[in-house]
Amino acid sequence: MTQGVESDRNSVTSDHMNQVQTDGSLQRGLFDNGADIDPQTRIEALRREIEHNSYLYYAQDQPAISDAAFDSLMRELRSLETQHPEFIDPSSPTQRVGGYVGEQFAPIVHAQRMYSLDNAMDLDELDAWVAHVVEELGSFVPLVCELKIDGSGIALTYEDGRLIRAATRGDGTTGEDVTVNVRTVNDVPLRLRKESLDRIAEVSSAIELRGEVYMPKHSFETLNAAAIADGHQPFANPRNAAAGSLRQKDPKITMKRDLSTFIYATADNAQFSFSSQWDLLQWLRDAGFHVNPDVALCTTAQEVRSFCEHAGEKRATLPYGIDGVVIKVNDFALQDRMGFTARAPRWAIAYKFPPEEKTTLLRAITVQVGRTGALTPVAELDPVTVDGSVVSRATLHNEDEVHRKDVRVGDTIIVRKAGDVIPEILGPVKSLRPQGVPEWHMPQQCPSCGSPVVREQGEAAYRCVSIDCPAQAHERLVHWASRDAMDIEGLGDEVIGRLIDTERVTDVADYYHLDEYDLSTLDMGRVNKQGEAIHLGATIAQKVIAQIKDSTTRGLARVLFGLGIRHVGKTTAQMLVAEFASMEDLMAATEERIAAVEGVGPIIAQSIVDFLHTPDNVAVIDRLAYAGVSMKRLDTHQDVPQTLTGLTFVLTGSLVKSGMTRGDAGDKLKERGAKVTASVSKKTSYVVYGEAPGSKYDKALALGVPVLDEDAFLALLASDQIPQVDVDAAATDTKAPAAE
Ligand code: NAD
Repeated sequence: MTQGVESDRNSVTSDHMNQVQTDGSLQRGLFDNGADIDPQTRIEALRREIEHNSYLYYAQDQPAISDAAFDSLMRELRSLETQHPEFIDPSSPTQRVGGYVGEQFAPIVHAQRMYSLDNAMDLDELDAWVAHVVEELGSFVPLVCELKIDGSGIALTYEDGRLIRAATRGDGTTGEDVTVNVRTVNDVPLRLRKESLDRIAEVSSAIELRGEVYMPKHSFETLNAAAIADGHQPFANPRNAAAGSLRQKDPKITMKRDLSTFIYATADNAQFSFSSQWDLLQWLRDAGFHVNPDVALCTTAQEVRSFCEHAGEKRATLPYGIDGVVIKVNDFALQDRMGFTARAPRWAIAYKFPPEEKTTLLRAITVQVGRTGALTPVAELDPVTVDGSVVSRATLHNEDEVHRKDVRVGDTIIVRKAGDVIPEILGPVKSLRPQGVPEWHMPQQCPSCGSPVVREQGEAAYRCVSIDCPAQAHERLVHWASRDAMDIEGLGDEVIGRLIDTERVTDVADYYHLDEYDLSTLDMGRVNKQGEAIHLGATIAQKVIAQIKDSTTRGLARVLFGLGIRHVGKTTAQMLVAEFASMEDLMAATEERIAAVEGVGPIIAQSIVDFLHTPDNVAVIDRLAYAGVSMKRLDTHQDVPQTLTGLTFVLTGSLVKSGMTRGDAGDKLKERGAKVTASVSKKTSYVVYGEAPGSKYDKALALGVPVLDEDAFLALLASDQIPQVDVDAAATDTKAPAAE
């Protein structure tokens, strides 16, 4: 394990997307020390992050990270699961169609599942998919290319030619009944044209057609402008606007939202007398559906590529959003032959456009002060829509970066949304630079408190060294309440800002002295339509107070992370807590002792010791303890005897007798003090194997590591006694199933 120095990234807090992109995943510690984290931990962290973002995206229609960032998390998870099949879990987001079934609509179980699509992120990946299809089917087969509409999936059911039901995709198995809302969408035919019915095998039986509901770009812009004028949160992109508009309780609102559709599929191809996607598109047109005109039947891989390139060029001129091209095997019989994975058809792929680049004007470079005093230059831009979301601010990281890119105020700059979580400034268009524009330099005084700023040797960042800097205090207070720290819901940036401005809090210990009155009367610095001051109010105040109280039991690791000690991220905090059971123990430890902790090292150790021996910090910690904040290692399994401490286990195969997942089995071992790792080495104490174990079982035998079958494992859990295992016998165990 190498030493992990976790970054003190500032959050660029302005428009919605920027704010959450920088605050979100980065601060949740997903990206710190990624390379060093063991695969199982990383897989679990990725799954949690993907679930969380899927919920925001599908259920709230308010994504917190860009689609490119989401896709890159998903790809990393998929690749880790491929490398470590022992951690594959049917409930992993890679094995399911992403989505959400809300409770305000009646559920509709889809007669045929609604699938997602696998992605090709560039033309090379697309070529590889085409080559795979050729290999599987024996020769090149005609492929249909369609635009990938950036909307929300919809299933329309017709009986006797009449629309009887409309459902969202939901989680792929169950959708939401949005029939009344869909009836308000103008281009959805309520009755199919008569002449089209004779191509349906049995007209009286229900047929299901599928497509996309979308919001045209101009309607999206009008809707968002109105939302902003009314003080509401705008939609992040047209896709979320379409999904949100479709899932309105009041169909009159849906009607006003100017939704349209493109229909492109059926749930069951066998119900028709034609046998290809190309013919289906024609039938859909004949039946009265809105079918996208930009389609092609390609007979070479080059034609497929050209279609994708052409679509990319056309994208900006289209009145609706597209995020790629969908390529489908044309022949239904061949589609059937290729089949589906758990979440997507094998006979289709979505080619996703490369990140969009736009130019805009750099109005100013402001400086933001982070919780440890690091100063971050932030580009203030003329708002520009990139990949469907508005970007008006972007981090420039540090002064060196500003110089390296040679970005100056007044420049026309190129901005893009890359596979990263933040919009990225690529550089200036130098030919458009006004004359005499000077280079930018970091101010010599902190923009918040006016104290001098310093740049320590070997560091890219300048820092404000004042302990009383209000901007640092603000960031520290925000960080303490954040999800991975003390997780105090309701204490967001705005409320915290008002608590500081009204002098109700100055440091994190002050949170624990707030009462309901302090919060309910908090003036939010805004007025309502009648011109009256808006206060936080009693309902929210009660919830926040309850949350603050709950946060006292989160345990030492979160406290250490929440204090915002430089270089101490979530992972480091957990590693420290594995060694030190209480704040007292850590405070008493020498720098050398702390540096010796796995994953810590001298730089972090020095930072911890400096922090914990600064009198102001000690005072805050004392006041936190006095207020009842737990400063101890969280031991959720206090009653479980730690009989397996010092032992390392590896799990492989399916534990079919107990039905436990490997994750659950690992948790049971960890509860008893054991370590569970992903790979077998000489240091492994035991390998637990279930049915169809992987190569780890082989490796255990080769290295002479004792193996436990599921019965022995269950006996171990029941008795808390290590069973006697004869290693040589295990190595020749004929009952053990053959490795894959
Ligand atoms: P997807 O949007 O990548 O592709 C599948 C969908 O494309 C289909 O279900 C269908 O509704 C649609 N589609 C559009 N045109 C089509 C056509 N011509 N033929 C067939 N299908 C067509 O997959 P998804 O599962 O809906 O969503 C996953 C994507 O959503 C991710 O790739 C990510 O970009 C985005 N997402 C983002 C976040 C976030 O936090 N930003 C969270 C979850 C999902």
